[in-house]
Amino acid sequence: MSDAMAPGENDVLVVVDIQNDFCPAGRLPVPYGDEVVPIVNRLAERFRNVVLTQDWHPPSHLSFASSHPGREPYETMTVVCGPQVLWPDHCVQGTSGADFHKSLQITHAGLVLRKGIHRAIDSYSAFYENDRKTPTGLIGYLRERGLMRIFLAGLAFDFCVRYSAEDAHRDGFAVFVVEDACRGIDVDGSMAVTRRQLTELGIFCISAQALA
Ligand SMILES: [Zn+2]
Repeated sequence: MSDAMAPGENDVLVVVDIQNDFCPAGRLPVPYGDEVVPIVNRLAERFRNVVLTQDWHPPSHLSFASSHPGREPYETMTVVCGPQVLWPDHCVQGTSGADFHKSLQITHAGLVLRKGIHRAIDSYSAFYENDRKTPTGLIGYLRERGLMRIFLAGLAFDFCVRYSAEDAHRDGFAVFVVEDACRGIDVDGSMAVTRRQLTELGIFCISAQALA
């Protein structure tokens, strides 16, 4: 372990979407998604600063296949801001599926950031909605708090974690993806594309052990 990897005052762990609907019994299950819970619980103990994100959609959200007659889940269609994978209904505001996994225990998290709250646009990233322009407000929060290095963990590696990493990198933050604290969905090879993209951008994938 290098000292550079020891989390400090200016580091933040962003825990992405560890919610019931993304776990194996949920509506949009990420395979083995619940395996990250104990890993992330331990990881969070290393960080003074933790943010949790929560996918939080109104009913009939644009990202739901059920909102588009004749479409099936996991198809891709073109919407105003580009290609959109259509998902099963998931993480509907106020439902148990939108709750955090019951074993996620990060009581010292300073912020819960809800995203995907607008019906007509999806938000994979914790930082910008899928037009990559409309902010969620998290960048402002991190800047105001002086948090410069972002460590990402959670679900799913190839969607919400990937988009969050790309956006934070673009905004000038140092970004690390704690890969063994993530699980992916893998729609049409999206895992391989994600790994390639992160490498090309110079975003480091590290293991939780590197921070232990
Ligand atoms: Zn969603």
